[in-house]
Amino acid sequence: MEQLAVFGGTPVREERIYYGRQCIEQDDIDAVAETLRGDLITCGPKVEALEAKLCEVTGAKYAVVVANGTAALHLAALAAGFGEGDEVIVSSITFAASANCVLYCGAGPVFADIRPDTYNIDPESVESLITPRTKGIVAVDFTGQSVEHDALGRICRKHGLTLIEDAAHAIGTKYKGQPIGSIADMTCFSFHPVKTVTGGEGGAITTNNEALYRRLMRVRTHGITRSQDEMVHPTDARWYNEQVELGYNYRMTDFQAALLLNQLHKLPRFAARRREIVERYDREFSRMPELVVQREIPESDTTRHLYILRLNPDRLKCDRRQFFDALYAENTCPQVHYLPVYWHSYYEKLGYRRGLCPNAEKYYEEVMSIPLYYGLTDEDVDDVVRAVKKIVDYYRV
Ligand SMILES: *Cc1c(COP(=O)(O)O)cnc(C)c1O
Repeated sequence: MEQLAVFGGTPVREERIYYGRQCIEQDDIDAVAETLRGDLITCGPKVEALEAKLCEVTGAKYAVVVANGTAALHLAALAAGFGEGDEVIVSSITFAASANCVLYCGAGPVFADIRPDTYNIDPESVESLITPRTKGIVAVDFTGQSVEHDALGRICRKHGLTLIEDAAHAIGTKYKGQPIGSIADMTCFSFHPVKTVTGGEGGAITTNNEALYRRLMRVRTHGITRSQDEMVHPTDARWYNEQVELGYNYRMTDFQAALLLNQLHKLPRFAARRREIVERYDREFSRMPELVVQREIPESDTTRHLYILRLNPDRLKCDRRQFFDALYAENTCPQVHYLPVYWHSYYEKLGYRRGLCPNAEKYYEEVMSIPLYYGLTDEDVDDVVRAVKKIVDYYRV
C-alpha cells in the first residue's frame, strides 16, 4: 500500500482512533474474575441471569444466549423452519452473516434494496420480491435505527412470513416506544467488541413465542433435551437425556455472560454518550452540502452503533477511496459498512449479479463509518470533525 498523503504536512492527531472500540472498566474485570473462581464456568448462573436481564432490557418473554451473533442468526433461521426450496428476503446492506444464516439452512437469500435516505430495508422492495416460495424476512436495524416494523409486520401477516430481526446494531433502540427485541418473531443480537455492549464474543435471540423458545434452547445444545415431554422415549432416570434433532454447541461461557451482564447495566450510560456524539456530528455535517446525513424516522428512538459519513459526489472532486485514505492519513481511521452482500465473490459464484439493488450499490460507493464509541473524548470528536472539514475543504468542487 502506498504511503498516504497528509494535506498540509501534519495530521490532525498523533494517535490513531478507529471506528469502534469496546469499553472495559475495572468492575467488568472483577465480574469475570469472580466467575472464574466459581464452580460453573459455562452454562451456570451468569448465563441465566443474563437471559433474565435481556428480557428486562428488550421487553421480550424469552431470551436465549449463544456464542455469537452469527450463531443467533443460524438458530433463528433453523427455528423459523427455513429449508431447501424456500426463499428468504434479506437486507442488501448488512454483514454477510445476515444472509449466510439462510444458506446454512439450505434456503436461498433474496436481496431487497434499501431506502436511499435511512439505509434500512425498503418494505416496497420486500413486497415486490415475494413469491409463493417466500418464507421469511431477515431485516437489519442498520446502524441501530429500527426497521419499519408497521410496514414489515403488515407484509408478514399478509403472506404468512416469519420476521427475523438482525438487531446486532440495535440493543437499546425503541420503535414507537417499544424496545427492539420484543417486536419481531425472533430478534438476534451480537455482543462482539465493536457493538454497544460486549461479552468478548456473544449473541442472543429474544422471542415472545414459547414454542420457538423451546426449540432454540434445544438446538443451542446439540438438539439434546432433558425434558420428558420432548422425548420419544421418556423416562425419569436421572442420567437420561435424548437427542431428538440435529443441533449445535452454541453455548456461551459463564465468564463471558458475567462480562456482558455487567456491561448491560451500563447500557443507558453508553447509549447516552453515543447519542451525544451523533448529535454533534449531525450538527456539523448537516451544514455541509458536500456531505449527506442519514435520515432518522420519527418512530425510532435509536441507540446508534455506527455513524455513516456519506459523500455528495456532485460537490466533491474526489471519490470515496480518496476521501477514505485522506481520513486515514489524519489518524481518524474509518471503515466501510458494508459491501452489498451479493457483491461478495462467494455470492457471485452462487449466481447473484450486480445491479440487483441500485440504492444499495450507490450507497456503497459513497460511504464510510467514522469513529463512534463510548470512550471517545470531546477532543477526539473535535479531531474527527476537523479532519473531515479539512478534507472537504481540499476536495470541494
Ligand atoms: C456483528 C454483526 C453480526 C454477527 O455477529 P457476530 O457476533 O460477529 O457473529 C451479524 N449481523 C450484523 C448486522 C452485525 O453487525
